Amino acid sequence: MSSDIGVSPYTRLFGRYLREIGLPVTQQRETVADVVFDSEGHLSVDDIEQEVRARGARIGKATIYRTLDLLVRSRLVEEHDFGEGFKRYEHRLSRHPVHEHLICLECGSVAEFESPEVFGVESRVKAELGFQPVRHRLDIYGLCKACQDAGVTLTPEGLICPIETV
Ligand SMILES: [Zn+2]
Ligand SMILES: [Zn+2]
Repeated sequence: MSSDIGVSPYTRLFGRYLREIGLPVTQQRETVADVVFDSEGHLSVDDIEQEVRARGARIGKATIYRTLDLLVRSRLVEEHDFGEGFKRYEHRLSRHPVHEHLICLECGSVAEFESPEVFGVESRVKAELGFQPVRHRLDIYGLCKACQDAGVTLTPEGLICPIETV
């Protein structure tokens, strides 16, 4: 059975979603949700598994995957594919709910930035094309400052591959 002790308000929201779709609110699901909601980062399943272990819980990868799937379906968590061969997860209730991403092709770091310009594009397509924008996604791939400072350069191939997979 689940207990609400120590569970974040967002996890409680997730619990409400689970009950709505007729699924039990288990401690394992709550722990995975807590790990995601406690982070401001872009977590891989490995990151989540590590943090789950650090909290002294034993939860199999299959359960973590299934819980992430439910979190994404609840729309509380967003799934990202940055072309790394695995997904990353980020909760949508962070301090900056709408932001864009800068993904380093060398070290895999993911940085966030906010872009009023993109909202300008949304307004323009609405005005010019009569399209009603709901959400957007802008991922910019390249080299982070640290990797550039370390002397890393990218071959054109390295740049082309991830863009083609989007
Ligand atoms: Zn880098
Ligand atoms: Zn993000």
